[in-house]
Amino acid sequence: MIGGGLAGLSSAVALAEAGLQVRLLEKRPHLGGRATSYTLPDGSEVDNCQHVTLGCCTNLADFYLRVGAAGKIRFYDRLHFVDAQGRRSTMEASPLPPPLHMAPSFLLFSPLNLADKRAIAGAMMEIALNGGNPPGIGGISMLDWLLRMKQTPAAIERFWRVVLVSALDEELSRTDARYGIEVFWKAFLANKGGYRVGIPSVPLVDLYAGCREAVLQRGGEVRLRCGIREIRVRENRFVSVVMDDGIETTADACILAVPHDVLLNLLPKEMSEGNGPLSGLRNIKTSPITGVHLWYDRTVMTEPFLTLLDHTTQWVFNKTLLYKTSETARTNSRPTGQSGLSSEAEADGQYLQLVISASYDLVPKSRQEIIDLCRRELADVLPATRDAQLRKATVIKEINATFSPEPGVDRWRPPQKMAVDNLFLAGDWTRTSWPATMEGAVRSGYLAAEALLAEFGEPKSFLQPDLPFEGLSKLWAHSNNEAGL
Ligand SMILES: Cc1cc2nc3c(=O)[nH]c(=O)nc-3n(C[C@H](O)[C@H](O)[C@H](O)COP(=O)(O)OP(=O)(O)OC[C@H]3O[C@@H](n4cnc5c(N)ncnc54)[C@H](O)[C@@H]3O)c2cc1C
Repeated sequence: MIGGGLAGLSSAVALAEAGLQVRLLEKRPHLGGRATSYTLPDGSEVDNCQHVTLGCCTNLADFYLRVGAAGKIRFYDRLHFVDAQGRRSTMEASPLPPPLHMAPSFLLFSPLNLADKRAIAGAMMEIALNGGNPPGIGGISMLDWLLRMKQTPAAIERFWRVVLVSALDEELSRTDARYGIEVFWKAFLANKGGYRVGIPSVPLVDLYAGCREAVLQRGGEVRLRCGIREIRVRENRFVSVVMDDGIETTADACILAVPHDVLLNLLPKEMSEGNGPLSGLRNIKTSPITGVHLWYDRTVMTEPFLTLLDHTTQWVFNKTLLYKTSETARTNSRPTGQSGLSSEAEADGQYLQLVISASYDLVPKSRQEIIDLCRRELADVLPATRDAQLRKATVIKEINATFSPEPGVDRWRPPQKMAVDNLFLAGDWTRTSWPATMEGAVRSGYLAAEALLAEFGEPKSFLQPDLPFEGLSKLWAHSNNEAGL
């Protein structure tokens, strides 16, 4: 196994549980890849960026269970929004059956007027009535589809864009409509629990301790600081890998779970260039995410997390609160505006993490410019920051954060089983039908493990089903299937 991100880890754990001796080689000094945390020179531990999961991410949930990390993810039922004037709104499920369960809080959602809501409801019904697969979406962008569905500018900007740019890390004009529609179908329409936001209550790297144990217990090995510089293939069979120190090592089979642009440099040229089977990977573009970490000298925020409308900053996470799970439980059930922090936490100040997805405009800006911009925006929505002292700040720009879900990108995503015997691929960029997410990475890892075991004549399945369709959504999805749509 090459690569210790979520794709490599999920594959390694699944194979170890199936009784295989797995050797996992990871270039960095820690596991988790793009979803990890590390220690700053001053000793504070930061996630490279806040990562959230959703209730509909069934394979990631299964992986966390396997490695004993499920209890470290806390789920939140209430979503908090704030506009440029600091006005708060919330969204949460009601007892109505899907796809109507969010309707009551949607009707009360103050940032949108009646015309916006009518337009959104029409588009949502188009998705739900077609079981998540409305006609005529092949190869078009999400923006094209929204315009076709006659969405108002406010509906696009303050609703669709807010959800989808965060979920897919790309602008609506560069997002395949199928991906955008699936987010709404799986998270908000098909099932009551799909939208629930899951947030780790520990630094990301702490979620992966169980992975190492699972591999070691079955006689395997996890090697960190062990980069691979070449994959050797002969007569259509994987032969060996060459490590950065020049040592060659072999195995019965190999799963490559590195980012797609890294893979291109490791493979023999006849596979990655010209008409090679993986040359299409060169067409997959990436998009950036910027994380801004701010440490204030006092409490400036009471919600566990906030989604911002009409700002460059998209999400603010209250890390101090999120790491205090028992405190979090109390605050999440409180009305907005009341402090849920212990006096000890208030005295210690507060650590916030801001996230800006598809942050193309921030890439050329300096660290200080980004911090200043974020502080100005926080002053709009969290007035307490105006008088608070900023003790410390860090900006982490991930330029190639995720692959861009451009219209038609799926044709460049290869399956996990390659034409080369005993060589397999895993990674959020492989063909999973999911966008670049932790769920997509775990799906790819499970699929690669299944493909490997099948090739060795010991088939086993790891992939988990989606959440079941519920209520009217189940009825409509069913009648669509029956009609052969
Ligand atoms: C800033 C940011 C925020 C995100 N937020 C979210 C979120 O909120 N929710 C969500 O679901 N997803 C989010 N994602 C996406 C998610 O992190 C990724 O989809 C997922 O982690 C990808 O996992 P992976 O295993 O496919 O790839 P990676 O995590 O990239 O793993 C690849 C591994 O291969 C290793 N490697 C590379 N080269 C070599 C080599 N030569 N030899 C050995 N090892 C090598 C790397 O060090 C790495 O550990 C975010 C991503 C970023 C960057």
